[in-house]
Amino acid sequence: MLKCKDVAHRAGEYLEGSPDKRLKWQMRLHLAMCRHCRRFVRHLTLTQDLSTSVAQFEPCSPDKSQKIVQKIRSKS
Ligand SMILES: [Zn+2]
Repeated sequence: MLKCKDVAHRAGEYLEGSPDKRLKWQMRLHLAMCRHCRRFVRHLTLTQDLSTSVAQFEPCSPDKSQKIVQKIRSKS
């Protein structure tokens, strides 16, 4: 049976869809029994999704950034 530190170490591999069926089974078994690792894997998934979303944004021009800052300041 995997230990929590094993789950933390191999969570990325698991989430990327590792073809290792034994790893999948061991991870699922551990996650079914350990709420801490379920939370860790859920947060890791959210972080990966957020990173993907942020990577799709185009950089904001300094002009546009300044306009946004002015707009925020005018509302406070
Ligand atoms: Zn655990």
